Amino acid sequence: MNNKPKIGVYVCHCGINIAKTVDVDAVAEFASHLPNVKVSREYSYMCSDPGQLLIKEDIKNEGLNRVVVASCSPRMHELTFRKTLAEAELNPYYLEMANIREQCSWVHEDREKATEKAKKLVAAAVYKARLLEPLQENEVGVEPATLIIGGGIAGIQAALDIANAGFKVYLVEKTPSVGGRMSQLDKTFPTLDCSACILTPKMVDVGSHPNIELLTYSEVEDISGYIGNFDIKVRKKARYVDMDKCTGCGICAEECRLTGRISSEYEVGMGNRAAIYLPFPQAVPAKYTIDPERCLFLTRGKCGKSPKCVDACAPGAIDFEQKDEIVEFKVGAIIVATGFDVFDASRKPEFGYNDYENVITSLELERLVAASGPTEGNIIIGKGRKGEKKKKKDRETFTPKEIAFISCVGSRDETVGNEYCSRVCCMYTAKLAHLLLEKIPDANVRVYYMDVRAFGKGFEEFYDRVRREGVRYIRGNPSEVFKRGDKLVIKAENTLTSTPIEDEVDLVVLAVGLEPRQDAREVIDLLRLSQSGDRFFMEAHPKLAPVDTATDGVFLAGCSQGPKDIPDTVAQAKGAASSALGPLSSGKVMIQAQIAHVDEATCRGCGFCVETCPYTAIELVTVNRVGHMVSVAKVNEALCKGCGACTAACLSGSIQQRSFMDEQILPQIAVLGGM
Ligand code: FAD
Ligand code: SF4
Ligand code: SF4
Ligand code: SF4
Ligand code: SF4
Repeated sequence: MNNKPKIGVYVCHCGINIAKTVDVDAVAEFASHLPNVKVSREYSYMCSDPGQLLIKEDIKNEGLNRVVVASCSPRMHELTFRKTLAEAELNPYYLEMANIREQCSWVHEDREKATEKAKKLVAAAVYKARLLEPLQENEVGVEPATLIIGGGIAGIQAALDIANAGFKVYLVEKTPSVGGRMSQLDKTFPTLDCSACILTPKMVDVGSHPNIELLTYSEVEDISGYIGNFDIKVRKKARYVDMDKCTGCGICAEECRLTGRISSEYEVGMGNRAAIYLPFPQAVPAKYTIDPERCLFLTRGKCGKSPKCVDACAPGAIDFEQKDEIVEFKVGAIIVATGFDVFDASRKPEFGYNDYENVITSLELERLVAASGPTEGNIIIGKGRKGEKKKKKDRETFTPKEIAFISCVGSRDETVGNEYCSRVCCMYTAKLAHLLLEKIPDANVRVYYMDVRAFGKGFEEFYDRVRREGVRYIRGNPSEVFKRGDKLVIKAENTLTSTPIEDEVDLVVLAVGLEPRQDAREVIDLLRLSQSGDRFFMEAHPKLAPVDTATDGVFLAGCSQGPKDIPDTVAQAKGAASSALGPLSSGKVMIQAQIAHVDEATCRGCGFCVETCPYTAIELVTVNRVGHMVSVAKVNEALCKGCGACTAACLSGSIQQRSFMDEQILPQIAVLGGM
């Protein structure tokens, strides 16, 4: 029935987005004379319901079998119009779009020339539409389980949402406990909720949920497959402690020969631990782990006469024979929630972080103000990180009275390669300033800032509150911190009054920014994720697909996608969970139809396409070609994303992409060149 093309052309005004620069009536009139065009119309908003109805009625009443929509980018509305065709019972791949907005009206000013260009684009689309073929989407089943990589608040929230909806979750966390950065915070802005009080119940829930398999101290080693059917390999690192036997009593850590001698990651170097340790008291699972890089027995083969931890452990949980274990399973969807790194303050040497023990980072201050922290919530400087360099008896400790925060350290700073704003440091600075005043009421606290970004719910009110409490805000970007006598001097310029400042203080707190993780490459390679300009993982579309990635079935949550506070992290995690639940609950997904296929008769088996495909969708297989066994390329239809890279690489033109075949696009190009 579709042999003779009958084309409908629909030229959109897009309000004045297109109509202001392109003479839409003239383009529609021009299109009505193109070959095989049966109907040509213009309309104010083609994507609106009445616009789509126009197309549907013409398909029915005029017997159209091809449709050209001249409007915005296909990225915006190709799916909308495909659906329109399908609703009118026409194969959705009989649609061609001419982008006369992004490629024409938005980039040109001369109305006459823009109109001529729009006509060319429409003519090219019509010539291609004549050669379109119907395509069928295939359906594949979905494994009803999800892999979540990263057990911070983002991963925890997504895991609970999916598990509560009745689906299996594998939550893989690199460190010995879930919790992420939020577990290190004391209170959270702007409501001053106790971080542990709101996080711990959720950690306990993921640890005990029947639908969640918690794989802590584990890393994903390999991911293959496609949406609905990913094959996962996880390495469970040896803890050297039998999880079933360990009761979490902690006697081993007290007895360990290295107790109190290893800098604690959780306390950011402000406190110490043993070689066998629980990262923090509320850790989930509450099971001890032996640090293989520090334990005397594991590094030297000997720990005194016999390892004290072994002697101390009544249930006999310590097992130096334990080996890494590989766990394999299948999932239908994946959520990446790997979080962020805190900016390394030593990359700004002018602030003296490596030189002075009373220059600390905001995360270190979080641990100092925490009642569960190394100083039990007392603001004592000189005991921690840099105090360690001195002998215990020589350490001088003091409580600071003159305290300054420096904002934007490692953010909005081209010199360290981070042009972006970290979004949380203005507010956590206000929070920490408030907490300091609570602990040291006679302290003088000031904040050096570029500008204060208090954009969220309750943020501006909180910022006003801390100023009312006496925190001074000085607009100025400090250039240097140096020592003068017992004091630190901050050199800055007050940019509101243009006066130079030399401010003598006892403590400098660097409000360090959020950075992409140093080890992000591992996850990028596993999932072929893209990074945006700021090096965080890139979403499929910043506005319309903020939790999706370019790989179907893989979603992003939390700070792995960009700096965020906890409410935004939780909201995004919920978004990622609901996106993952879509395919899981429907039990099937459609595999797109505009994919590559190979002409086995002409394929030379050179493998160029195999190397080119960014989605590893092509492999070489052996086939019988008239009595000879030859190597040819084969496309895995579920993996192919229709990017077209292979078609450009193939020297013999044997691999072609459906809807973008040479015989379809060459006439299209010829029209553009010939007009
Ligand atoms: P993370 O907390 O970083 O968690 C990521 C998890 O993934 C970690 O457990 C990590 O070990 C794990 N992981 C990483 N890579 C892998 C891998 N390859 N495999 C397996 N696991 C992996 N926000 C507020 O709303 N209020 C506040 O008061 C506040 N104060 C803050 C103070 C400071 C000093 C800082 C730095 C941040 C503060 N924030 C605050 C922001 C808050 O910390 C983040 O919003 C939140 O931690 C983001 O959670 P996440 O799960 O995305 O990332
Ligand atoms: Fe207690 Fe043994 Fe577990 Fe250590 S390893 S916490 S001693 S049960
Ligand atoms: Fe500590 Fe020695 Fe046990 Fe290692 S073997 S955890 S160093 S007591
Ligand atoms: Fe600077 Fe504030 Fe942005 Fe942090 S949130 S980078 S302190 S402006
Ligand atoms: Fe791979 Fe892209 Fe070719 Fe598909 S079209 S096989 S994704 S290179």
